Amino acid sequence: MPLIIAIDGPSGAGKSSTSKGLAIRGNWDYLDTGALYRAITLIARENEIDSEVELREKLKEFKIEFVTNPREPQVLVDGRNVDNEIRSEAITANVSKISSWKSIREYLFNLQRKIIGNSKNGIVVEGRDIGTVVVPDAQLKVFLFADLAARSARREAELDEDASSERITNSLASRDEIDSKRAVSPLRPAEDALELDSTNLSLQEVVDVIWDWLDRKNLLGLPKVAVIGRPNVGKSSLLNALAGENRAIVDDAAGTTRDPIDELIEFGGSIWRFV
Ligand code: C5P
Repeated sequence: MPLIIAIDGPSGAGKSSTSKGLAIRGNWDYLDTGALYRAITLIARENEIDSEVELREKLKEFKIEFVTNPREPQVLVDGRNVDNEIRSEAITANVSKISSWKSIREYLFNLQRKIIGNSKNGIVVEGRDIGTVVVPDAQLKVFLFADLAARSARREAELDEDASSERITNSLASRDEIDSKRAVSPLRPAEDALELDSTNLSLQEVVDVIWDWLDRKNLLGLPKVAVIGRPNVGKSSLLNALAGENRAIVDDAAGTTRDPIDELIEFGGSIWRFV
């Protein structure tokens, strides 16, 4: 199983920026499951459907895809990029209702599992029920949250339309309420999720904390390798050969190399730690 990192939490806690930042740093894929729920809400809206049964039936006519490149993620409906449309206020106002429908969640459960299963390197998946329902065996589960005022201020800064802060706060609070009280896969931290309050943290700090958790859990790629031996037996030369570059000084004089014990050698998208 590739590395799967689940990032759940309420709207505006910083899940998208954090997940993309992590995926870029680790050279992993990225899946925004909220965008899939939004794409379905768009289909419902464009086809004037307001019933679960009708919508589930209608979905048979469409193909929803997600491009998992964290630098340029895209949601496609029948090949059409709907990234802008799905962020409109009308979609935001309706998405939580449609997300509470069981058969719609089942449909997306399968699609999400398929996208995750196609990942070769690893994938960061953000949503509401990733750690609890979609991938309960994800190697790292994070529940990212922040207080409502901080989330509202961030959303306001993101939106270029002139939505009032009161409307944004009400919209977030109403989605929180529906998302966490619904009967099917409500928003809540998985029992083994690491909880992170981003209220007073910058994006970089949040990414760094999660990166550190990954490191501590030994999830950053290759295992730790200890190169141990007497002076001048070729430890540094071996390190250089493995790294493919001259990182450690090689000298006939014994004891020349005084590298810090925790030297990180980065190459090929993975980090090898020599201790
Ligand atoms: O993440 P985003 O705010 O774009 O999600 C939009 C909505 O999609 C959420 O408010 C929630 O109702 C729904 N959603 C969900 N389960 C997920 C992801 C999103 O119910 N895994």
